[in-house]
Amino acid sequence: MRSGVRSTPIPTEISVPADYHSHTPLCHHAEGTPQAYVDAARLAGVTEYGISDHAPLLPEPFDDWRMLEGDLPEYLRWIEQARAHADGQLAIRAGLECDWLPGCEPWIGQLRARHDWDYLIGSVHYLPDAALGTWDFDNPKWLGRWAAQDLETLWTQYWQAYAAMAESGLFDILGHPDLVKKFGFAPAGDLARFYEPAIDAVAASGCVIELNTAGWHKPCAEAYPAPRFLELACSAGIPLVLSSDAHAPGQLGRDFAPAIALAKAAGYRETVLFDKRQRRLETLP
Ligand code: ZN
Ligand code: FE
Ligand code: FE
Ligand code: ZN
Repeated sequence: MRSGVRSTPIPTEISVPADYHSHTPLCHHAEGTPQAYVDAARLAGVTEYGISDHAPLLPEPFDDWRMLEGDLPEYLRWIEQARAHADGQLAIRAGLECDWLPGCEPWIGQLRARHDWDYLIGSVHYLPDAALGTWDFDNPKWLGRWAAQDLETLWTQYWQAYAAMAESGLFDILGHPDLVKKFGFAPAGDLARFYEPAIDAVAASGCVIELNTAGWHKPCAEAYPAPRFLELACSAGIPLVLSSDAHAPGQLGRDFAPAIALAKAAGYRETVLFDKRQRRLETLP
């Protein structure tokens, strides 16, 4: 293999930071082979390719957009296939995107013990709801529900959950900070009143946040988090990674050039690299 013909062109552009937030077909709403993702990562010029599919949740089936607990061995094999295809030319990192839910702490601990992960991402996709018990507010199937929501209440719930997730200390990276804006619904007025307490909690936790470019392709048409949040986060000393949240190979490293510009405008000069939960800094190009 090592001396075999390389079908992948060596990227000629300058490299961009690692992309640690990406998915696999095991979550039922992503596509692509490990080989295709590795080839795409090399074309995009990311310094490392991290895989962080939607982690299992109990009781199963919890919903229809994540791997099952029984898929974990296949997930680890998928990552090994990516590593084999990368053949030492690109660092492959193993992670999970875990859901923050009330009482999830023991389960996250169990997931943590299943593998020597490079990092775990924590994300808030679920919020409490009087009628539904809990709802995955960013699921497009609930789009019609959003018009009936009290946005002040919903945003308050979201940011309280985000702060609690940070305070749990269970995660290395906190995902898409202001995902609650995904469909373009936000309360009136200065949103910094929501950002500030969450940023205090994240800064105290020592967690890294991500600048997730997928938001540019959603109705909100803005990366997660908003520029104002990013400025406040940088001032508070919160470290940063860039991420695409790729659900297809061609999305790896997507919009990293504008993301780098946005991060620099907010004051960032470096991003974080993870290897078995150990951090190193990499200077933004
Ligand atoms: Zn997904
Ligand atoms: Fe997510
Ligand atoms: Fe994701
Ligand atoms: Zn995500």
